[in-house]
Amino acid sequence: MILVTGGAGFIGANFVLDWLAQCDEPIVNLDKLTYAGNLQTLASLKGDTRHVFVRGDIGDRELLARLLAEHRPRALINFAAESHIDRSIHGPGDFIHTNVVGTFNLLESVRGYWSALPAAEKTAFRFLHVSTDEVYGSLGTDDAPFSETHRYEPNSPYSASKAASDHLVRAWHHTYGLPVLTTNCSNNYGPYHFPEKLIPLVILNALAGKELPIYGDGMQVRDWLYVKDHCSAICRVLAAGRLGETYNVGGWNEKPNIEVVRTLCAILDELSPRADGASYATQISFVTDRPGHDRRYAIDARKLEQELGWKPAETFETGIRKTVEWYLANQPWVENVSSGAYRDWVGSSTAEP
Ligand code: NAD
Repeated sequence: MILVTGGAGFIGANFVLDWLAQCDEPIVNLDKLTYAGNLQTLASLKGDTRHVFVRGDIGDRELLARLLAEHRPRALINFAAESHIDRSIHGPGDFIHTNVVGTFNLLESVRGYWSALPAAEKTAFRFLHVSTDEVYGSLGTDDAPFSETHRYEPNSPYSASKAASDHLVRAWHHTYGLPVLTTNCSNNYGPYHFPEKLIPLVILNALAGKELPIYGDGMQVRDWLYVKDHCSAICRVLAAGRLGETYNVGGWNEKPNIEVVRTLCAILDELSPRADGASYATQISFVTDRPGHDRRYAIDARKLEQELGWKPAETFETGIRKTVEWYLANQPWVENVSSGAYRDWVGSSTAEP
């Protein structure tokens, strides 16, 4: 049994689905179901006894103590977070509440559980914290990609709150010996991505005939990884990562935002052409840049590749095509999220979906 937090969000839900497709080890999935949590993503697990969904907050120590005592997980993977930079600029409070205070409470709950485990279970236990490359700040054009020893220079309320959580996780290892692992991953894309993020937003706006908004000059560089490759990296680190270590996760796919958007338009032109024959690229519009927008992120993933033998299965070209195909083939999921109808699931969601 493993316990996953935030498993109704984009990456967490992909992880839960992939995990249960590959093995029979059950998952307890603790998620608060904020606007970003969507049980519809997990609808295929309805009736599957290997998946126990619990609605709750990572900061609720009483709930955590009960779940840990009841299910006795051998590992906890922490995906739960407030994750959208723009939201963190307009309302940083939730980011501090969940990413900093929530992670602190989660660590304390897990420490209590772990320290009381019998010796063999105590040695085997793992706490894997999922984090982001944004904690490292911004790179100049000619700078080397972020390695695990790059200094932390977070620039947004989101990245600062994630940096704080990484530091807490590190300290709980050094101070209390909690067996932790941390992953810092580049930008993910793929199925079930909430449409406030660049790639799903562009696909959905393009198909709806709306403008495709690009911040500033569109030359901000991000390093992209297909979400299922991130999930496989997490499995690899969980299985073989060295305690207390950090592993950067990335696919060596640096792309300026404008290139990502043009690629999406070209794939859509091919797979779902506009009725008037024009390219979706004609819908691109440049909008005022985000305040403090980091210019470039790039991940050096050699430690994970060389030490743990992980490799991504997708290139950017294959992953982005799969993603567009997924959005075209899954319109009911998309319409449900776009209309907000997925919120209707939440009322009755203290049990499994
Ligand atoms: P997401 O916003 O899609 O999902 C977050 C999930 O956490 C949601 O289901 C939400 O309901 C849940 N949640 C939020 N607050 C909670 C709380 N207090 N208690 C319990 N559950 C809570 O995020 P995501 O994109 O899936 O990211 C998952 C993790 O991966 C985050 O920690 C994020 O920082 C990290 N990460 C994301 C990316 C990316 O490109 N999306 C890249 C690298 C790292």
